[in-house]
Amino acid sequence: MRLSQMLFVTLREDPAEAEIPSHKLLLRAGYIRRIGSGIYAYLPLMWRVLKKVSQIVREEMDATGAQECLLPQLQPADLWRESGRWDTYTQAEGIMFALTDRRDTELGLGPTHEEVITTIAKDMIRSYRQLPTHLYQIQTKFRDEIRPRFGLMRGREFIMKDGYSFHTNEESLKKTYQDMAQAYSNMLRRSGLQFRAVDADSGAIGGSGSQEFMVLAEAGEDEVLYTEDGQYAANLEKAVSIPADAETSPFASFEKRETPGTETIEKLCKFFKCSPTQVVKNVLYQAVYDSGITVLVLVSIRGDQDVNQVKLLNELTKLAGNYQGKTILFLTVPDAEAQQKWASKSLPLGYMAPDVADDYIAGSKEVNSKFLRLVDRTAVDLTNFVTGSNESGYHVVGANWGKEFPLPSLAVDVRKAKKGDRAVHNPEQTLQTARGIEVGHIFQLGTKYSQAMGATYTNEQGEEMPLVMGCYGVGVSRLAQSAVEQSYDKDGIIWPVAIAPYHVIISIPNISDAQQVEVAEKLYTELNQSGIETLLDDRDERAGVKFKDADLIGIPYRIVPGRSLKAGKVEVVERATHKSQEIPIDEVNSTLKNWIEAAIK
Ligand code: ATP
Ligand code: MG
Repeated sequence: MRLSQMLFVTLREDPAEAEIPSHKLLLRAGYIRRIGSGIYAYLPLMWRVLKKVSQIVREEMDATGAQECLLPQLQPADLWRESGRWDTYTQAEGIMFALTDRRDTELGLGPTHEEVITTIAKDMIRSYRQLPTHLYQIQTKFRDEIRPRFGLMRGREFIMKDGYSFHTNEESLKKTYQDMAQAYSNMLRRSGLQFRAVDADSGAIGGSGSQEFMVLAEAGEDEVLYTEDGQYAANLEKAVSIPADAETSPFASFEKRETPGTETIEKLCKFFKCSPTQVVKNVLYQAVYDSGITVLVLVSIRGDQDVNQVKLLNELTKLAGNYQGKTILFLTVPDAEAQQKWASKSLPLGYMAPDVADDYIAGSKEVNSKFLRLVDRTAVDLTNFVTGSNESGYHVVGANWGKEFPLPSLAVDVRKAKKGDRAVHNPEQTLQTARGIEVGHIFQLGTKYSQAMGATYTNEQGEEMPLVMGCYGVGVSRLAQSAVEQSYDKDGIIWPVAIAPYHVIISIPNISDAQQVEVAEKLYTELNQSGIETLLDDRDERAGVKFKDADLIGIPYRIVPGRSLKAGKVEVVERATHKSQEIPIDEVNSTLKNWIEAAIK
């Protein structure tokens, strides 16, 4: 491609709309343009990168025996009603764009494809002889994200590879799951990324496993906890650990004390000169089940710990049946406005005890009249603890479960693991933290969708059984941008060779120099013919401008037919290191071929 003929516009300044380096650079270098919130045009250079990433993904998927297909993006609401996800996806999470056609039929734009694929499987898979089987596609997905941001990192329209496998049993699913873990590692390694596979939350489905593939970068929205020995890595949402030991309480007898202005744990501990590990704090949540019932949840947890809302959501989802529901639509900390809807009188916020009375709740058809009380395991073993008194400005000290307060019957793990905690697999290891960008997610689904939608097969004994499923996603466009997030310098992007839009750029310093043009044209033709993807900067611009642009767009090798032509050589500059060397013109092709092959291997 000749730059003189390309729609090529670079910006000198950082665009105001971009916050993180990769987003700024992709805009400045002319790879993407914003069309609307979370909506981007992939310009020609970006499209080449995306095609390369897709090709790596495709090759690794095909190597496992998965088959590529293309599923519809317009999805009938009825399919989502069958699986029970229409309301959650269009209302609760609200992540699905929903529309009504001219016949008044409701449809959604595909945020994911479990429903579509399960319907196909229900229709086409009859017998165990057809299993296992695995279909995947690479396609645009639509998600009405609450906070679209960081360019392609969190778009409302983005490219995903999604695959779905079907099995007769868990063992077969596990095998494909392992193959996928390997395929995903291969994809990321081949794309030149530093990454970590981590245990991930499988939501309320439980399931026996889910892993995310995290590209390590400061701009990552996820926190990863891991140990140095490489034995443990998990998303914070899922991570477990051994908390610090509790200190022995200095309070020997039960007493109510005046504690003015101590509505936070920090202030309270300062007031009593005690450790937060001697305090039971009681945190209020409000859960709305899909049955329309609101439940007020009181979590008692040790004062130095925080509630992990994902773990809490999973625990509460398990209890949905108690409230005539299947799932939770919202889980929030109720603000003053929310409290008005159900509180019969004002709550002693900051001073609540584990036994705060149920008559604070004005029960109704929609509001459960009793608190659902949970205790985190960190609070179960505390003795002589400090906690609220249900009266503003007062706490109690020296309290014990079973004496002053009944221990809630449901003891759960809903605490947030944190940096410095001891690891469960080996208490000598402490958890470290890193930021990550989730680029892939593999998931053992089990029979959730097949059961809901009646997708069955007949086993060897002639019995009808639900299909066992797995699903596997890669954010192709997110992956491409995260490569930039991991690899840039003050001059611009440094693409890993395997996914760079072009391997080489030939920058002609002066287009009125006939010899420079002649050598450049010759190399341009030769390199492209031998499969080295080459750009020719033949614009009528100053050499300095061309070199700056070449650095900004991040092409791995730059050839400059300049002063060294006299010696029959050209200058070749490596983008990543800025290292320059002079190479005889007739050796350029073979030298670059070797470098590129070595970089891509
Ligand atoms: P996130 O937690 O970041 O919202 P997710 O867990 O909802 O993502 P999945 O449903 O697991 O995403 O989708 C598979 C992959 O698609 C993700 O691992 C991610 O790489 C990519 N992806 C998801 N949402 C977006 C988005 N809004 N923009 C770009 N890529 C996305
Ligand atoms: Mg995910």
